[in-house]
This record gives sequence, structure tokens and C-alpha cells, in this order.
Amino acid sequence: MLYNRDFIDEKIKTAIKSSENLIGKGKLANYIPELANVDPDNFALSIMSVTGDCFNYGNYNYEFSLQSISKVLLLIMALHDNDPEVVFEKVGTEPTRYEFNSLVPIDEKAANPFINAGAMTTSSMILGNDVEEKFARILEYYQKMSQYEKAALMSEVYKSEMDTTDRNKAIAYYLKSKEIFTDDPEKVLDLYIRACSISTNVGALARMGAVLANKGIDLDSHYNLLSKSEVQIVVSQMATCGMYENSGKFLMNVGIPSKSGVSGGILGVVPGVCGIGVYSPRLDATGNSVRGKEIFNILGQELDLSIFIH
Ligand code: GLN
Repeated sequence: MLYNRDFIDEKIKTAIKSSENLIGKGKLANYIPELANVDPDNFALSIMSVTGDCFNYGNYNYEFSLQSISKVLLLIMALHDNDPEVVFEKVGTEPTRYEFNSLVPIDEKAANPFINAGAMTTSSMILGNDVEEKFARILEYYQKMSQYEKAALMSEVYKSEMDTTDRNKAIAYYLKSKEIFTDDPEKVLDLYIRACSISTNVGALARMGAVLANKGIDLDSHYNLLSKSEVQIVVSQMATCGMYENSGKFLMNVGIPSKSGVSGGILGVVPGVCGIGVYSPRLDATGNSVRGKEIFNILGQELDLSIFIH
């Protein structure tokens, strides 16, 4: 990073301190019962620079599920397995003002890969003989990209969502009825919810972000985990569609391509600089972490992380 370690550490600690006034603000996601079964005021932050410098704060080893952050992973896998033209024939590229589990932004196709309908579409494009094999490929890739070998299916979270997922089931059947995919909707839904239930911690998110910030190249092995064109697609979609119906405002105020999930995590990518992972499970009305957003906001300003101010 451009500043020295002590300076960055000081700025991050100050940002964490000033976000403390938001403790208690926002609500846990409870439409998936297991997600309400957490300490609401838990907090963790991790930043990893493209040169491998790592900054960890709070409960940084705490495990939570990826939820919508897995949509980034599903898009990457769909792009690995298909040409981009084929992917974007089936899913759109534009933000939507509707909530992530709405059926409204499905016209000829889902508005973008980061709403539920779009992520089910990308899920349907991932190769493998059955759901198990497809999921194993997704998980293996996530372990490699995040260097979090412990990443696994959180079965309680998975079961809890599978038991309560009527809306997503409707979306899956609707997509099939529109011939956006031809697979069994139950299987597509199962794969999507498994991906949402992959365990992570903020360090793993920061590492994933750092790989995206590093043109897709692994920081240690220098192995190309994504091509430059895949990075271009994924990070630009994070910038325009990653924060639900608040994506435009977040990009304007913070300027960091990001993807949030209803478990309270946010993944951020500052191209050429670093990856960021935050966890704080109280959410605003759109499903974004209240304190997480504020941390991004302060850090963006204090460390000049906005992609528009360089
Ligand atoms: N698994 C969640 C769902 O499908 C993910 C939503 C989210 O994180 N926004 O509803």
C-alpha cells in the first residue's frame, strides 16, 4: 500500500472507533432463521494488500456464511465454464432498484448476476455431473482463491434456508418457465443455496478481494486464478450491482467495488491496492451491513481507496 504500516493501522483503528456509534443500529436477517442465531454486535475486519500485507481486527477468525457474496464466486465459475457472450445472453449486466429476491427484474433475463435470479442463472451454467460435483468445484475454487482451506458447507445455515426458501423456489421455477435454463429448478436452487452457505471469515474475504485487486493473480504462487477479462467483468459488476438497490449510492459515496451478503459480510476490491473483508451482522433495510458500510466509507476517505480519486 502507499502508506506505511503504522499509518494504515492507526487509520483503521480510528475508523473502527468512529463506527462504534452504530453498534445496535440495524437488524439481523431473520428470514433465514439460522442467520438470526448470532451475536448481533460481533465485528471483524481484515485488509490484505496486493503485496501480501495483512491487517486484522476484531473477531477476525469468526466464521459466517458467504450468502450473497457467493454470487461473485458463481459468476466467476460460470465465466470459467462458458464464454462471456454465452453467460450474458442468459443474464443481464444492469443494476436494478428492486430487492435481491424480487421477481420483477426478470424480463427476458434477470437484471444482473448479483440478484438471486441472476445468481441462479449463473449457477445453472456451472459444469459438473450433479449438484455434488458442481458444488465441490465451487468450494475447491473458493478454498484456492481465499486460501481458506477450512471453507465448507455450513449445514445448519443450508438446512435453515432450504426449509424457508419459498421465494427462491418461485424464482427458480420462473426462470425455468422462461427457458432461461432447462435444468431441474430444484437442483439449481440447491446449488445456489449451498454456495450461499459456504463458510468464510473476513481474512478469507480480504484474500479473495486481493486476488481480484491483483488482476486475478494469486499473491503467493503467482498462478492466474482469473483472467484479466474475468476480473474486468466481475469487479465492474461489483461496482454497479454489488450492494443491492443501494449500489449507485454506495459507489458514489464510497467508490469501492463491493459485494455484500445478508449474513453481514462485505467484500471490497480496490484494484491494484487491496482486498477488504468486513463482518457486522446488523443490516439496513436493503440487506447491507450497517457498520460494515460505515467502515468502508471512512476507510475509503482516510486511505484514499475510492477508485475515482487516484
Ligand atoms: N441466501 C440468501 C437468499 O437467497 C442470500 C441473499 C443475500 O445475501 N442477499 O436469500
